[in-house]
Amino acid sequence: MADRVFMSNHPLILHKLALIRSAGTEFKKFRELLREIAMLLGYEATRDLALRETRVITPLAETKGFELAEKIGLVPILRAGLGMVEGIWELMPSAEVWHIGIYRDHKTLQPVQYYNKLPVSPTVQVCLVLDPMLATGGSAVATVNVLKAWGTRRIKFVGVIAAPEGLRALITAHPDVDIHIAAVDDHLTPPPASPSDPPEGYIVPGLGDAGDRQFGTG
Ligand code: URA
Repeated sequence: MADRVFMSNHPLILHKLALIRSAGTEFKKFRELLREIAMLLGYEATRDLALRETRVITPLAETKGFELAEKIGLVPILRAGLGMVEGIWELMPSAEVWHIGIYRDHKTLQPVQYYNKLPVSPTVQVCLVLDPMLATGGSAVATVNVLKAWGTRRIKFVGVIAAPEGLRALITAHPDVDIHIAAVDDHLTPPPASPSDPPEGYIVPGLGDAGDRQFGTG
């Protein structure tokens, strides 16, 4: 595994991962688990954020303290990344949230950006790109391209499950991006041979469609 891939082996994350994978987990529980897993992965992904020293007055004395030195941006990729925002935002309420909308064109299989309201100049120094499923890697690579063009200095990807293909694509395109995940699965589904087959590009075993399972669609 590349130096910049951090696969969590935290017992709480692995316990919750099995629950979120289960086809029997209903929408509300799925959202709750995704929020919790994101919070735990976000905690691990932020362990090297820069700090600056401050002074703090306790009820008894003045002492040394610390505060985050960099402005953080949370960048959920619509729509599945939305369910990862709240958990991490609770840890860092001063973070900004910038949404990026990208879908994969079914004919060309290329990522197409449909939503981006980033202002001209960067307002944050560190971005956490949020998407539970790193499948082909197309959306993640395209989002990091956007953030680098925007001028973000440091970018980390936080996901739940990666396919080997997506991991390779993101590492190859952006070797400077840290990747925090809970699992690397087996493979992606091939193009369907019959109408009853799942669509192309789903992670196996995975957890199905992370958007549909959050929002009750599909
Ligand atoms: N997106 C999903 O929601 N699930 C997958 O398995 C792949 C991409």
